Amino acid sequence: MPSLLPTMLRLTEIKLPLNHAEDELRAAVLAKLGIKPADLVGFTVFQRAYDARKKANILLVYSLDCEVRNEAALLKRFANDRHVQPTPDMAYRFVAQAPANIAKRPLVVGFGPCGLFAALVLAQMGFRPIVLERGKAVRERTKDTWGLWRKRELNPDSNVQFGEGGAGTFSDGKLYSQIRDPRFLGRKVIKEFVEAGAPEEIAYVSKPHIGTFRLVSMIEQMREKIIALGGEIRFNSRVQDLILEPAGDDQRQIRGVVLADGSTIESDHVVLALGHSARDTFEMLHGHGVFMEAKPFSVGFRIEHPQSVIDAARFGPNAGNPILGAADYKLVHHASNGRTVYSFCMCPGGTVVAATSEEGRVVTNGMSQYSRNERNANSGFVVGIDPRDYPGGVLAGIEFQRQLEANAFVVGGSNYNAPAQLVGDFLEGRASTDAGSVTPSYTPGVTWTDLAQTLPAYAIEAMREAIPAFERQIRGYSMADAVLTGVETRTSAPLRITRGKENYQSLNVRGLFPAGEGAGYAGGILSAGVDGIEVAEAVALAMTGAQA
Ligand code: FAD
Repeated sequence: MPSLLPTMLRLTEIKLPLNHAEDELRAAVLAKLGIKPADLVGFTVFQRAYDARKKANILLVYSLDCEVRNEAALLKRFANDRHVQPTPDMAYRFVAQAPANIAKRPLVVGFGPCGLFAALVLAQMGFRPIVLERGKAVRERTKDTWGLWRKRELNPDSNVQFGEGGAGTFSDGKLYSQIRDPRFLGRKVIKEFVEAGAPEEIAYVSKPHIGTFRLVSMIEQMREKIIALGGEIRFNSRVQDLILEPAGDDQRQIRGVVLADGSTIESDHVVLALGHSARDTFEMLHGHGVFMEAKPFSVGFRIEHPQSVIDAARFGPNAGNPILGAADYKLVHHASNGRTVYSFCMCPGGTVVAATSEEGRVVTNGMSQYSRNERNANSGFVVGIDPRDYPGGVLAGIEFQRQLEANAFVVGGSNYNAPAQLVGDFLEGRASTDAGSVTPSYTPGVTWTDLAQTLPAYAIEAMREAIPAFERQIRGYSMADAVLTGVETRTSAPLRITRGKENYQSLNVRGLFPAGEGAGYAGGILSAGVDGIEVAEAVALAMTGAQA
């Protein structure tokens, strides 16, 4: 289909000093293209990143979409310059339109970013999906989530992991991903978020984030949009069982689902966007013989430093510049025992949060507000593990996670305090007894201890080796008073609900579409949203007979 957009040129790698004047951007375009001001009709910033390799001379790096006169002649002149190209067509186009009378509506189980985008795109194509979410609407859910953080009271169906908006609602709202995205589906996610109230800059900064506060109201807006398009969202609706019928050749066909209250809903097309913490539902699926495989994930701690230490390490004399915001980092170390240690889900200027969805367990994660102006930076400090570390079948990874989380609960004092240790003590192998200069942000509280008892020895060994290696990249990372809080176990799903590459359906249950992070096909808000769109398209094609 031809593009409906006017053609444009995309200029990449236009570099300017951090504090450049606004009109320098236009001058840089004219200089790069060697054209007169009258030949530049206009331009927009497609992306703005920064290059902080030289801290004293941080550069802003732009990609710009330019409307020019004589575009064809310019493209010819710059034919060998990969930094002057036609702007790609990034418009999203629906793959199908629902027929007038749909006998059975599609179901979307789970209303995290994956289910949200699956439902939205299905609704936009006219399929009137029914969303089934075990948790509550986001405002009520917020109260339950704070219930654990403030009063040590956990609601197993309404918490950081479960409820409207899914796992990323109480998060930093980072919106970047390293997925391959040849169809620019990530742009569709970003565009919908901006329409729902996200700051417009998320469309062009290279590492956008939204923060928790905005996410809550955006999710409400998107819910209303789905409803206005004929969709339905049912909260407090936990899917407890599947209705399956034989379909020959070791295959079955889904015919509907059974909810926890015993009611049933018929459907031949069910998206499973469960997230990585739906352990009871994974067990149910396994009981039915739905094809699943164990997969690698990571375990570790959260680490907290003063944000000012990270800013200084990354930005030197430019620390605090509002264009740069609070600094982040990304670190990897390949340890001599063969393990890979890395930073995960870094939250600048944020807080460490209690993220369990099961009673008697402690799990850490991180979140921040849009302003990222809390005192501490935090990130996951985790070690890659794989099914050889937890032999015993598809569900063994869940059991492994549960054991670590239950042990952390006991070591923390059996009251939802998390076990914590100072980095200096962790490196020396002695228990901590109190905080130093870094105040831990985890609520309801921490219990000072020796964290070596909370993870396998190989993980501790690799982490002890990684801290000095990370210090060489981020000065201050190994500061003795930095705080480690454990345990971080929900980094991704410990299993994959494998699906067909073309039709996105379970390998042995027709009409069942495993999706998002819980099925092992996404990691993070943006990639879960993109996967939701792709799965919605597969459902639409299957329902209109365009795909088997
Ligand atoms: P989820 O978001 O987990 O959603 C699954 C939904 O399914 C849940 O709402 C759950 O209640 C529901 N559900 C489960 N079982 C059933 C059932 N049987 N019946 C009905 N409903 C069910 N990612 C980022 O990219 N950036 C970040 O800054 C970031 N920060 C994070 C901070 C925290 C504290 C956490 C916990 C995660 C963070 N993540 C972040 C990860 C991100 O949230 C997930 O990758 C993303 O939410 C996965 O989306 P999903 O839709 O696949 O699953």
